[in-house]
Amino acid sequence: EAKRGTTWQATAAPVPAGVMVSFEDVSAMQEAGQMRRDFVANVSHELRTPLTALLGFIETLRGAARDDAAARDRFLGIMEHEATRMNRLVRDLLSLSRVEAEERVRPATGVDLGPLLQSVLHALEPLAEEAGVRFEREGVREGLVVPGDADQLRQVFTNLIENALKYGGSGGVVGVEMTEDVRDPSLRRPAVRVAVWDRGDGMDPLHIPRVTERFYRVDSHRSREMGGTGLGLAIVKHIVNRHRGRLRVESALGQGSRFNVILPRT
Ligand code: ADP
Repeated sequence: EAKRGTTWQATAAPVPAGVMVSFEDVSAMQEAGQMRRDFVANVSHELRTPLTALLGFIETLRGAARDDAAARDRFLGIMEHEATRMNRLVRDLLSLSRVEAEERVRPATGVDLGPLLQSVLHALEPLAEEAGVRFEREGVREGLVVPGDADQLRQVFTNLIENALKYGGSGGVVGVEMTEDVRDPSLRRPAVRVAVWDRGDGMDPLHIPRVTERFYRVDSHRSREMGGTGLGLAIVKHIVNRHRGRLRVESALGQGSRFNVILPRT
């Protein structure tokens, strides 16, 4: 059996009878190198798609659409959309690299979770209204303080609630639930849990282990349509790690999802 942090890779070709198979120990370093290469390839692809569209439309505006005011307006609209998408991607990439750089530094300040959640919900109210969703709050109160970085925790809950609105909004309600004394088997001390749930389409549980991977999407077409970069949950995961917390995801097709953020109190 493979040891922790080590993967065993067999040779890829089918094995003819009588041939010995040698197993190769792929070191963690090689694996990290591969991940980095995949990441760069993904970023390049994600940036190139809108860029290609932009260049194509510029050419059309210079040529065929030059004297057609209606077409010009339409193309400019699409170009704005593509540029906005690139902008979001660059913003999320910067967030990710900042969060990654800080991952080993433990946040030192205390964050009162209740007021933070209220302010995130308040800021997202217009988006909820647009999606026809009402927010439900349970146990959200002042005075539950965890060691944390307020800006980063704000980002965690913003990303989770935005996702609930994007992918779970069809359920008409998105909930935020705060629970004071939660025991997680992998944490020594009691912790605070903030759960963000929705009653939307949910996802097949087989996706759950992968949703925090960079650029992993259950339905890429839908994610792009919704303005997703595929980095939101990767950012969430890094921030929760920095807080020595846990992210536990529950979801069922047709029933909705629940993202539990478990944060140690001391
Ligand atoms: P994206 O930018 O695509 O939203 P995320 O990293 O935030 O990227 O999420 C990754 C994927 O996880 C999404 O594309 C979506 O398929 C799935 N997902 C996230 N939140 C939910 C949710 N509340 N309900 C169903 N699926 C979700």
